[in-house]
Amino acid sequence: MALSFTCYASLITKSQDQLNYSKYNGVEKVKSIIKKTVIPSVSYSPVESLQKGNWVKLICGASFEDLVDIRNLSLVYTLAGVDCIDCAAEASVVNAVNEGIEAARALVPIRRPWVMISVNDDEDLHFRKAEFDPDDCPQDCTRPCEKVCPANAILQKGGVLAERCYGCGRCLPVCPYDKIRAITYVRDVTATAELLDRDDVDAIEIHTSGREPSVFKELWSGLGNSTTNLKLIAVSFPDLRDSTISAMKAMYAIMEANIQCFNLWQLDGRPMSGDIGRGATRNAIAFARKLASAGDKPKGFLQLAGGTNDHTVEGLKKEGLFQMTTVHEASRYETIPSSLHSPNALIAGVAFGGYARKIVGRVLSSVQSHHGLARVEDFPEQLLQAIIESLALVGTVKCYNIQKPST
Ligand code: SF4
Ligand code: SF4
Repeated sequence: MALSFTCYASLITKSQDQLNYSKYNGVEKVKSIIKKTVIPSVSYSPVESLQKGNWVKLICGASFEDLVDIRNLSLVYTLAGVDCIDCAAEASVVNAVNEGIEAARALVPIRRPWVMISVNDDEDLHFRKAEFDPDDCPQDCTRPCEKVCPANAILQKGGVLAERCYGCGRCLPVCPYDKIRAITYVRDVTATAELLDRDDVDAIEIHTSGREPSVFKELWSGLGNSTTNLKLIAVSFPDLRDSTISAMKAMYAIMEANIQCFNLWQLDGRPMSGDIGRGATRNAIAFARKLASAGDKPKGFLQLAGGTNDHTVEGLKKEGLFQMTTVHEASRYETIPSSLHSPNALIAGVAFGGYARKIVGRVLSSVQSHHGLARVEDFPEQLLQAIIESLALVGTVKCYNIQKPST
């Protein structure tokens, strides 16, 4: 059964009531609330979401490696019904994502979102870490770097906490003494291929500039047969203006002979900026508008990312790009049909990164600041608050008119 707007709305209303903490306690209450609510992904497979145009992916961050946060984010967004969770290509991170998913499924028997690992074929903004030596910093520095970091990755009076830095770069220009360096890296292709062999990894995303087919080809060749059992292969790339379609064709030609699953193009509008504000989503929408109207693009679903936030769907609707279609009941099972590449929505969906992490991160950080390395499900009040935040965001894609509740 599909989730209706009223179901979401009633959850929000109900949950607001439940936030009167004196009225409830214990995780059983949270379970009961979630069970009474029809989460959309109980009934829809990720494939079906892609086809209907209401696919939602949580981006944990290609370089974000805080395992506690990743586990808790995965738990919360699994309960909110995301179709996929995208994370760094590191075994420990993949473990944390899967642990979060299974913890969510222990609360509510919801279907499992796909787990995607992100890699790069060359230098890429998503694959870098900021670094500085705090001993080199002048004593009287007002530490603008610390204030501007969206990930709380810069320690008070200290340096960068590497596992929390996801490479957004905002600290780099604000240092008045030019003390911060960006260290870039490329994920090892052999280690990536090993990760893809795991049963709990379903998809890969290749970040590329799209300008160098030779490096893309090198990575693709290095992956060999490891992509054979995947459910989705995504390519994330920026708007290359007049060269966009030819770059997509070149990449698709490299992959084509070896693609045995669905493929998706992630349109990276304004990287790592969704938490900045409303306007951050404009580039991704403009990119989507361009590709949706291009007749000669290669096969594959289209999905927005880069600057996406709670205003993205509103922008898509204004452009006439947010179109839902009906999927026949018979396709409600998570199987890859023999006729691949048959999307029936203009845009398959949206991936949320920085904004998704910000709205739930506020709740998670309050748990962790008081309780250390905490499991969010042990704190029902905070879990419920996090679920409300995540549902309001995921609901912008899964339902048409959901409003974020005032808190
Ligand atoms: S501002 Fe961005 S690049 Fe700098 S430490 Fe924080 S997350 Fe890393
Ligand atoms: S702004 Fe520059 S000098 Fe000041 S604490 Fe940050 S890195 Fe050090």
